[in-house]
Amino acid sequence: MQKRLTAEEYIAGIISGNRIILSRAITLIESQLENDRTIAQKVLEKILPYTGKGIRIGITGVPGVGKSTFIEAFGKYLTAINKKIAVLAIDPSSQRTKGSIMGDKTRMEELAHDDSAYIRPSPSGNTLGGVANKTRETMLLCEAAGFEVVIIETVGVGQSETVVKGMVDFFLLLMLSGAGDELQGIKRGIMEMADAISITKADGDNCKNAKNARMEYIHALHLFPPFLNNWYPPVLTCSALEKKGLFEIWQVIISFENQMKKNGYWKKNRQEQSLNWMHDYIKQYLELQFFSDKNVKENFKSISDQVLSEMILPIQGANLLLEKHFTS
Ligand code: GDP
Repeated sequence: MQKRLTAEEYIAGIISGNRIILSRAITLIESQLENDRTIAQKVLEKILPYTGKGIRIGITGVPGVGKSTFIEAFGKYLTAINKKIAVLAIDPSSQRTKGSIMGDKTRMEELAHDDSAYIRPSPSGNTLGGVANKTRETMLLCEAAGFEVVIIETVGVGQSETVVKGMVDFFLLLMLSGAGDELQGIKRGIMEMADAISITKADGDNCKNAKNARMEYIHALHLFPPFLNNWYPPVLTCSALEKKGLFEIWQVIISFENQMKKNGYWKKNRQEQSLNWMHDYIKQYLELQFFSDKNVKENFKSISDQVLSEMILPIQGANLLLEKHFTS
């Protein structure tokens, strides 16, 4: 393993925008070792004043919708207008299978070679909550290193959208045309989270389908209750292949930012996210403490067996184990 730097060296390197040190700091954050966690904590505390100024964008959609092609094209568009962008990912599959729906190296190759872009694959972890916290911390490091737009990508198949929604300012849902909602596995709840929807692959023969799909989604969104922040999610079309619709999506994001900053929702959203983050930490900390407790470990199997054989109720089993922990 590469030698760790001191907290001060990480901090100075990140703030000066040194990408190699940024990458090493992210590796530090992903580490489970106690000692690394202590240094990571110190680094995070010190870089905090340099964070929070940019825009955090979440992007989701089912596999095949064109996320990585879109992010590459959109990313290139942003770097061309002199934005520095970081792309992070939360991949719910990587915690289960160690494989990844999104994480192969060949994705976004062109963007990866752009000096104004930084791409980091999804961290692995045992729980989605754990992965989410590491991604949040990584986002802060990227901001401190001068990346003004942070894109967090996730696959639209389940809980990870809620997690991403909970850490970004703006949430973009990519949709295919010509496939029903059920086919795309997009739940109504995910559509309700979107600040904008864009129909992908609006090129060639598919242009007409994309336009029709756009109208359908405009109608579908009308049925949802309006957001508290008074924002009406627009539906757009784009083609990453032909680099169309990228400017329009960026304009929507800018006007969202302006409007939310004016009506106070930008700040309010970030404040709520901070509180949720604190809660998440506490939950994770307690869970870790509980399951690594010697008394819990010793009794876990026998109590689980009693639950399995219906000798006791699950709640009784839980209470017995909690007693083992809190009275030890
Ligand atoms: P992801 O799984 O959501 O990341 O999707 P990919 O970006 O890997 O794209 C899935 C497939 O759709 C690939 O074969 C792409 O070449 C294709 N694709 C992506 N964007 C476009 C587009 O704008 N137009 C067309 N025609 N095809 C696209």
